[in-house]
Amino acid sequence: MNIFKKTLLNLKNTKSKIRETFKKIKFNNSLTKQDIENIEDCLLGADVGWELTENIISQIELSKDKLNWEDVLINSIKSNLNKFEIKDIMFKQIVIVIGVNGSGKTTTSAKLAQIFKDKNKKITLVAADTFRAAAVEQLKIWAERISVNFISNNNSSDPASIAYDGANSGIKNNHDHIIIDTAGRLHTSTNLMHELEKIYRIVSKLTDQITIIMCIDANIGQNSIKQVQEFNKYLPIDNIIVNKMDGTAKGGIVLTILQSLKIPISFLGIGESYSDITPFNLDNYLNSMVKEN
Ligand code: GDP
Repeated sequence: MNIFKKTLLNLKNTKSKIRETFKKIKFNNSLTKQDIENIEDCLLGADVGWELTENIISQIELSKDKLNWEDVLINSIKSNLNKFEIKDIMFKQIVIVIGVNGSGKTTTSAKLAQIFKDKNKKITLVAADTFRAAAVEQLKIWAERISVNFISNNNSSDPASIAYDGANSGIKNNHDHIIIDTAGRLHTSTNLMHELEKIYRIVSKLTDQITIIMCIDANIGQNSIKQVQEFNKYLPIDNIIVNKMDGTAKGGIVLTILQSLKIPISFLGIGESYSDITPFNLDNYLNSMVKEN
C-alpha cells in the first residue's frame, strides 16, 4: 500500500463523518438550516476552522452542480486555500527545524536527513537543543542509525554558537544539507523566541541559503495556527511539517493552515520512525478525506 494512502487510512473517522453528513443532504434543493448545522458540526468537529467552514458552506450553496457533492465539496474547499507549487517547497543548504516542545522536531530532523540521504546527499545533523540532553542523545542515535555526520557540544549552553559551528563545519565539508535541531519553546516566551531569532541571525552570517521548517503537532488543532503566526514574527518560516497525522488527528487542521497561512506544507509525519514521513499533496489529501476509495 502506498504510504500516503496508509496515512490517510487513519483519517477514516473524519471521512466517514463527512460522507454520512453529505449523503443525507438533498442537493437538488438549497441547503436547509438543519443541513447547514450538520455540515458545521461535521467540519468543525474535524478541526476545520470556523471561517473556512462558513466559506465552504457559502460555496456549496452557490454551486450549480450540487448533485455531485464530492466534487462540489472538494472544489469549495480548494477555492478557499492558498495555492502553492512544488518550487515553493525547497530545502536549501541549511535547514533550521523549529517548533514547540513535543512537536516532533528531533524526529523530523532525522526523517529529513534520511530523505536527503536517500538522494545521495551529504548531511550533517546539528543538535542545538541545549535545554534537553535527551534530545541531543536522541539525535545522536538517529545520526548513527542513518549514518550521517553529527555535531553537538556538551560544553556550550549557547545554541546560536552550536548552530554556527555546526553550519560552518558542514559548509566547509561541502555537505548538501546541514539540519539544525533547535530546542522547543513556547511562542509566548519572548526571551526564548529572541534566542531562536539569534540562531537564525548568526547562521545567516555564513550563508543566505537557509530554509526554516516549523513542526506542528496535528493533534493540537486550531492552536497551531497561532503558534506558526507567532514564530513567523521572529523568523521567516518557509514550510510546515504537520506531525502525528497517524494518531487521533482529525485532519481538518491541514486545511485551516493552507487557508489562513501563506506558508506551504511540505510533509506529513506519520509515525515515530525515521521513515514515517510522506510528502504532502493536496489533491490526494482531499480525495482521501472525501471520496469513497
Ligand atoms: P521535539 O520535542 O519537538 O523534538 O519532539 P520529538 O521529536 O522528541 O517528538 C516528541 C514525541 O513525539 C516522541 O515520542 C516522538 O517519537 C513522537 N513523534 C514525533 N513525530 C511523530 C509522528 O509523526 N507520529 C507519532 N505518532 N509520533 C511522533
